[in-house]
Amino acid sequence: MRMLKMLILPLITSSLMSGLSSMESKACCRMGVLTVTYYLWTTFIAVVVGIVLVIIIKPGVGTEMDSNRLGGGPVMTSADALLDLIRNMVPSNLIEATFQQYKTDLIPILKVPARTIQPNFVYVIPDDSDPKGRTVYLELTPPPEIVYKTSPGTSQQMNVLGIVIFSATMGLLLGRMGERGAPLVNVCQCINECVMKIINAAVWYFPFGIIFLVAGKILDMQDPSTLGKKLGWYGITVLSGLFVHGLILLPLFYFILTKKNPFSYIRGLLQAMVIALATSSSSATLPITMKCLLENCNVDRQIARFVLPVGATINMDGTALYEAVAAIFIAQVNDYELDFGQLVTISITATAASIGAAGIPQAGLVTMVIVLTSVGLPPDDITLIVAIDWILDRFRTMINVLGDALAAGIIAHLCRKDFPLSESGKHVPSYGT
Ligand code: ASP
Repeated sequence: MRMLKMLILPLITSSLMSGLSSMESKACCRMGVLTVTYYLWTTFIAVVVGIVLVIIIKPGVGTEMDSNRLGGGPVMTSADALLDLIRNMVPSNLIEATFQQYKTDLIPILKVPARTIQPNFVYVIPDDSDPKGRTVYLELTPPPEIVYKTSPGTSQQMNVLGIVIFSATMGLLLGRMGERGAPLVNVCQCINECVMKIINAAVWYFPFGIIFLVAGKILDMQDPSTLGKKLGWYGITVLSGLFVHGLILLPLFYFILTKKNPFSYIRGLLQAMVIALATSSSSATLPITMKCLLENCNVDRQIARFVLPVGATINMDGTALYEAVAAIFIAQVNDYELDFGQLVTISITATAASIGAAGIPQAGLVTMVIVLTSVGLPPDDITLIVAIDWILDRFRTMINVLGDALAAGIIAHLCRKDFPLSESGKHVPSYGT
């Protein structure tokens, strides 16, 4: 978990700043606005699909767990969570936003000097609420002093949303600065490349961490077999959400906006789909997606070059859907009732978290912390879903790639006047690696 958390900051800043900086050209302005609007809209729809399914299927309901794990109630109310979300979008101090913060609750402590440990009277009263069946009252002279200490606190993650907003703004502005912004864009690209390598190396250690983290969680459960069943239902919920979104809703949007057959377009993308399934990485699949769009789907190269990389950075419908389902599943397992405000918070944070996730294996697991902490769920409960995350990751990556590719087709159709070659002529495939 520490390895995952360590990577959040460099991952988000470098991928957003380098990814969004490619939006520099004024000629691409309309295409940029359309792309981002379409991406945000479809991601949000994916989240809603996930939320509806997880509420209907209820995969986490009925698991027996210690109900006191959340510290006896929600850490914050939904109104607090929503207001915090808005406040967090603009951190007052960017450096502070990168630190882990602590909620400082005051807890009363009785300070009893050694000489007063001689009680004058002792009352022993039977008490049903006491597990031992009685409460002992001591009368002390002089009376003990009450001091307040700050509790070790519920740790809160860094303000990831604030960092996402700041990095996205920086990325957009760096792109507009052209030559002058190029050195910083290069630095961000280098950092991004290194972080991806670190994550690829870290992935090799995951099995060890997973064995102990999951074993610890299972031992915590009263009936481990229940978790297995619930985890299975959770997997089915995520997969059915991905199916509905990827093979019904996205093709429907494509058909409505372009009036063309979405499935013949998707047939041209099969190679990219297989690579996405095999690599669990939309970034690694990018060259193949590009090849499919240019060779099989006849999408304009300029559009593909812009829409695909931005999509690989910010458009992750599958990831957003999975984050929403997983957060609500964790709440259900914890017997933690989410109200409407908290569901809205989850839908906004899952969208934001998917934008912040990089197109690499299991990046969604890292940014999931944002969604959990936004509604007061324990971030360490990510360990509940980690056991089957590697397989779900492959399917959500397919939907992420499909979403980017369909978006390129739609944007090409909508911008056909700005880019007249978009849908007509043959393209000589001259894409890089
Ligand atoms: N593996 C996904 C992708 O590359 C990201 C994730 O959901 O973890 O698109």
